[in-house]
Amino acid sequence: MSATSAAAPDFGLTADCARCAGLCCVVPAFAASADFAIDKPAGHPCRNLRADFRCGIHDRLRPAGFPGCTAFDCFGAGQKVVQVTFGGRDWRTGPDLAGAMFAAFRVMRELHELLRYLTEAVTLDPPARLRADLGRALDETERHTLLDPRALTALDVAAHWRATNALLVAVSADTRGGTPGRDLRGADLIGKDLRGADLRAANLRGAYLIGADLAHADLRRADLIGADLRGTRLAGADLTGALFLTQPQLDAALGDAATRLPATLARPTHWATAGRRAPAPPFGTRPSGVTRRPPSIQPAPPRVAGRPSAEEPTHAR
Ligand code: SF4
Repeated sequence: MSATSAAAPDFGLTADCARCAGLCCVVPAFAASADFAIDKPAGHPCRNLRADFRCGIHDRLRPAGFPGCTAFDCFGAGQKVVQVTFGGRDWRTGPDLAGAMFAAFRVMRELHELLRYLTEAVTLDPPARLRADLGRALDETERHTLLDPRALTALDVAAHWRATNALLVAVSADTRGGTPGRDLRGADLIGKDLRGADLRAANLRGAYLIGADLAHADLRRADLIGADLRGTRLAGADLTGALFLTQPQLDAALGDAATRLPATLARPTHWATAGRRAPAPPFGTRPSGVTRRPPSIQPAPPRVAGRPSAEEPTHAR
């Protein structure tokens, strides 16, 4: 679903829509908001999904009122479910599979996002003890992705996330340890003026930065796992070495040609027109219909990596 056109490596967990069956356009519910132009119940195809599982408005998602679609990435979970879990079948030609396939996608999406973070963590050159734990966590998570549909949907993915998140927290702390930055984990920074802020090595795990102005902020080595960057202004900001930042987060933000990015991420094409003179933040005032997190597009449970324990969702999320 992500519309980022500039190619960049993303740890080999890149969506391949041609080998999927439009699962991200069917499984989640959409709430009409600044992210989506329509309401759509979970498990129902979006009205723009074509018979060939391609998006009928892919080249104009933002102007058509679907920017949320451009900021979603399944991290390769879609094709894994269709090609591996269900052996190439799809929910249209095998409608009896639909319920099981949709349930499997929700779990697989979480597992693949976790694989994305674990794979990045390995590249951060952690000490041997953590590196060994990361290897085990990667193996275990990969094994989970190969479960059959019944076992996959029975998996307590929230528990697996919690256990593995502790490892990611440890790697982050070790990586940022030399000069630990501000602890803003889970902070409500919606619409805040943070222009030029020194956020080097800050802990911004799960922070709400919706509509915040981080123009020319220094975010080098900041941990941004799970941070909500919808409409966040990043013009001229320095994100070099930012930890656990993903392409969907960047795609949801507003940067410019001067924004410095981690080497593994691509500059969103829409920044060319949106970054230099950023429009009024679409989410800063919390308009009705827009929630703090994009629950409409997050298969349950949503990203929990950045949530402090007190806010960490229960398995129900
Ligand atoms: S508008 Fe979004 S959800 Fe609908 S088909 Fe296009 S990408 Fe999928």
